[in-house]
Amino acid sequence: MHEMSIAMSIIEAVVEKASQENSRKVSEIELQVGKASGILTESLTFCFSAAAKNTIVDGARLEIRETESLGTCEDCGNSFPVEGFFAACPSCGSYKTDLVSGRELLIKSITLE
Ligand SMILES: [Zn+2]
Repeated sequence: MHEMSIAMSIIEAVVEKASQENSRKVSEIELQVGKASGILTESLTFCFSAAAKNTIVDGARLEIRETESLGTCEDCGNSFPVEGFFAACPSCGSYKTDLVSGRELLIKSITLE
């Protein structure tokens, strides 16, 4: 499962950060997930709590903020919000568009106890 490996790498990064700070408990993790990342946030939350068992991350609150996808048009330079993975430019109809944001997965903040 895709989300399970993501959840495990997030936990790995958080555990490493907590040990650098000499913390034994993580109370909250804030994630930023792009809408075009393909990550199902509900599934990620579920995998996260399963993978966190028996780690210092167990019981931590997972806050997921979804960010909108943004595309740009190579033909006219227009920037526009994107729904889904591909979109035609709303101003000139070109399909030569690039997704400039929306695929990211970032750990925005970690709250340690
Ligand atoms: Zn355009």
